[in-house]
Amino acid sequence: MKQFVPQEACLKCQGCCRFKDENSVWSPCLLDEEIQGLLDKKGIPAASITINRHIQPVVNPEGADFICPFLGSLNNQCKIYDMRPFECQLYPFLINFRKDKVLLTVDLNCPYVYEKIDTQEAKDYIAYLTAYLNSPKLVKMLKENPQIIQAYEEVREVAELSLPHKKGTSSVGTPL
Ligand code: SF4
Repeated sequence: MKQFVPQEACLKCQGCCRFKDENSVWSPCLLDEEIQGLLDKKGIPAASITINRHIQPVVNPEGADFICPFLGSLNNQCKIYDMRPFECQLYPFLINFRKDKVLLTVDLNCPYVYEKIDTQEAKDYIAYLTAYLNSPKLVKMLKENPQIIQAYEEVREVAELSLPHKKGTSSVGTPL
């Protein structure tokens, strides 16, 4: 997946991979195959993954909040970057379930995207990302992993995705 935020901007920012509480919906939710890959290939402890298939945040040794256990606190880099989850690759964009629709949304708390969201560059990226998420391969993957379609609050809608959803459902993880 092409990235919108350049790596240099990410490494300077101290916003991502940190959470206000240990059960945060913002902690990355994993695809089934990612769980298996992280357990088998990276040898991560099973306790790093919650029953809801989120990465389990841990207490931040340098503050009062929580961080992803795979965040390198000294260099601000992801320790599992080559296998970082789909949701981490997607961020600051998120797949959101709201009012019976599956939406592509963006978190404007990311300072880079906040600055750029109204530019042609952002419009082009959103068109690319929407087409990518609507491709048969990605639709199949999302249908097999409905847990990652969540109800994020305070994010801006940028496009509607063509994923099917069950009429009348509105809770997290039940859109397909
Ligand atoms: S897996 Fe890596 S990119 Fe994702 S939240 Fe954890 S440290 Fe950040």
